Amino acid sequence: MKTPELTYPRLRPSVAMAPVHQTVDGILCDFFMGNTRVNRRFVIQQDLFECLKLLDGTKNASDVVNSVVGGKGDCDFLHKKLKSLLHVLREKNIVEDVKMAEISEADPRRRVLSFLGDFFPDYRLVEVQGRLQSAVVIICGIGGVGSWVAHFLCRSGVGHLVLIDPDVVQPSNLNRSLFPNKFGEKKVAVLSELLRSIDPHVRVDVQDSKIQGPNDLEKVVEVVLGSSIPPRRIVVVNCADEPNVDFTNDIIGSVCMPRHIPHVVAGGYNLHLGLMGPTVIPFRGPCLECVSMSLKKVSPDGFEEVRKLDRPLRKLGSLGPMVGLVSAFAANEAIRTILNGDRLQPALNGQRMEYDFFTGNIKTTGFERQANCKWCGHHGIYK
Ligand SMILES: [Zn+2]
Repeated sequence: MKTPELTYPRLRPSVAMAPVHQTVDGILCDFFMGNTRVNRRFVIQQDLFECLKLLDGTKNASDVVNSVVGGKGDCDFLHKKLKSLLHVLREKNIVEDVKMAEISEADPRRRVLSFLGDFFPDYRLVEVQGRLQSAVVIICGIGGVGSWVAHFLCRSGVGHLVLIDPDVVQPSNLNRSLFPNKFGEKKVAVLSELLRSIDPHVRVDVQDSKIQGPNDLEKVVEVVLGSSIPPRRIVVVNCADEPNVDFTNDIIGSVCMPRHIPHVVAGGYNLHLGLMGPTVIPFRGPCLECVSMSLKKVSPDGFEEVRKLDRPLRKLGSLGPMVGLVSAFAANEAIRTILNGDRLQPALNGQRMEYDFFTGNIKTTGFERQANCKWCGHHGIYK
């Protein structure tokens, strides 16, 4: 993409510029990115530093240079140096053009755009927002985790959600899911209405039958693919734990892998642990079968307690904030996956996290792609 001209530059409002100390080459200067708490440090020549202090979006580079030089120096040379510096600072998301900023600030999701502005330069934000709007996220299961995932994505500007769940709202759902007390009504209908009340422009498609095998999910995915959405703009999020996550992972992986569709395991809760991930970008990291193979290699002794609970019709306790934590991770992963590129990638590609409610610790486990994986290995069926 050709970089548009920077006409009226200014420091982004979420960035703070602070001189650290003088060096022989100029002023060592910190640029602190308020959203992500990243600090970028540059040595800036004194005259350029004086120019940067005057950038408020009301003057162009020539005006700023004239103010600093005041007819006593080489304006052309300083102007050239300033333009070169501003180009670097813009690519590092420190400087923006006020005209671009006005477009972002007029948008109701200006805070989302400001956040993403730490990852993408100002002139790309409209395109980045368009990627979210044109993305499709298919959420399998909209219970405790899935209902919150859908709501986070809707609020963040994901334009098209597909909700799959056969259940009705029950009083026992209310401790952890987003639903109001519309008992007996289909969850997909209640959540659709709620999402449209947040964003009337969001497209919500629903399926109120259960996914019992790959064919059921294939039908949904093929409809989406049939509307010319590229696979990289689709994300399937697994929030279904009936009869168990392994069963639903198997269905989702077997449908998504051959179609190169990224998928996120939202996780859930097991004992006192909140489980998050992994995210799978097909053939760019381990798939769910690779992860499953890796877990089977682990000594079963460590899973003694889990095995005791692995019985039909088991019902585990749940705490709303734990569910919220898992949901937020899954929604973040879906957004990072949609925007996957040079500047932002999924955090849980090949990783699984566990939040321990007892200790408050978060543990991350990494997995490797398995050469003999039946899905993505050397002789895998989806190779
Ligand atoms: Zn694999």
